[in-house]
Order: sequence, then structure tokens, then C-alpha cells
Amino acid sequence: MSQFMFVTDLDNTLVNHGTEDDKALQELNQRLSQHRQEYGSKIVYATGRSSVLYYQLAAEKKLIEPDALVVAVGTEIYINSSDNVDRDWSAQIATGWNRNAVVSITDKFNELKSQPDTEQRPFKVSFFLEESASERILKKIETESQKCGLNIKLIYSSGIDLDIVPRNSDKGQAMQFLRQKWKFVAEQTVACGDSGNDIALFAVGKERGIIVGNARPELIQWHSENPADNRYLAKNTCADGILEGLKHFGFL
Ligand SMILES: [Mg+2]
Repeated sequence: MSQFMFVTDLDNTLVNHGTEDDKALQELNQRLSQHRQEYGSKIVYATGRSSVLYYQLAAEKKLIEPDALVVAVGTEIYINSSDNVDRDWSAQIATGWNRNAVVSITDKFNELKSQPDTEQRPFKVSFFLEESASERILKKIETESQKCGLNIKLIYSSGIDLDIVPRNSDKGQAMQFLRQKWKFVAEQTVACGDSGNDIALFAVGKERGIIVGNARPELIQWHSENPADNRYLAKNTCADGILEGLKHFGFL
């Protein structure tokens, strides 16, 4: 056994909202904690939530403390439970980002409903957008933002969440930033996810990937269109699926 870097999405990947039964989560927590203690493995949570909503979930589900917290779909990194964002990462994604310019474009679309204030972040503008209108609206925003020369990325997830972030910022690039900082090779890094905003974790490089059995159609479809040996589609759901994948790759 040797150390590895474990990166996981939270909602519907590590945490199963559909059940009160947290047995698999407890087992996974226990094994990861032990691995961290014995081998120096690193635990990273990568979520679309803001840190406010992360701390709510962490308390409710008794999550173990991560070595780094990637929130707001990769636009903020907090290391070792620090209250302050990692400045190196913020500086890296700030280039070419203009939040006001993004808002002046999105203001034109009635279909975009603003997410709560806690989810509006310095490097993220977030909306709810109904799936039926999404294709049309996303295309229009793309066109408008290109006209204005904006360096942005649209991340649409779970048939409802739209996040607009700097182009060089997502969960996958945040993972690579941490991996390089801590000197883990891609083969000793594994990422887990269930939905569209996790595609960045699987698409960015040669890191190992675990797609949980309950993954959303958008992720399953992407996976079948982009097959790769370093990615595993689990049969089991959520934490059970993660355990299955970690054993498949020989990390546990
Ligand atoms: Mg999720």
C-alpha cells in the first residue's frame, strides 16, 4: 500500500441523500482516515457548494476533515481547514475574469433565476436554469460572451444548476493544482463524481476516475462517448461505489 490523493464530489457521490443509512460512508471514512494516518494519503472534497453550504453538510453527515476543500465548482481552494482561500490559486484563475461583464450579459435572460446570495462568489455567478430551455440559453450566452471577449466557462449540472466561472477554473484544474503542490503523480490520484460538473475531474488528465453507480445521465453519456482505461464505472451507488472503485484500482 502506498499513499494516494483521494478527491471526491460530495452530493450524491460521497453523500447519499436518498437514505438515512450511512454505513458505507462510515466505512469509507474510517478506511480513508486510517490510510491518511498510516501512509500520508490526502483527502480532498471538490463540490459545487459554497463553503457556507459545505459546513452545513459536513456537520449533518459527520464528514471527516479534508486536507483541502475545493468549493464553488473549483473556484476556491482552502487548505488544511484554513479560513482563507489559497491565494496562489485565486491569482491563477483571476486572469481575464470580469464578473461585472458576466452579470451584464446574464441580466438579459429571464430564464436565468439567480441562486441564493451564499452561492454567488467572487469567481462564480450561479443560476437555476430549467433543462428544457438550457440548450438554447447556453448557446446564446456563449455567443454573447464571445462577442465581448470574455474568458469564461459555462458548467451545467443536474438539469438545473448553471455556474459561470473563469475558463481556467474547474474541479479538474483545482485537483491538478493540489496534486502538483503535494507532488502526487496522476496514477496515484483518484477522483469520484456523479454529475456534469464532475466531468472536469475525469477529462483533465490521466488521474484515476470513479463514476458512482447512481451517476446522472449527462455523465454516463459523456463516459460512454469518451471511454478510458483509467476510469471505472461502479455498480454500487455513492460511498459503496467509491469503495468498489478504490478496490478496483488497488488503492484499498
Ligand atoms: Mg454531485
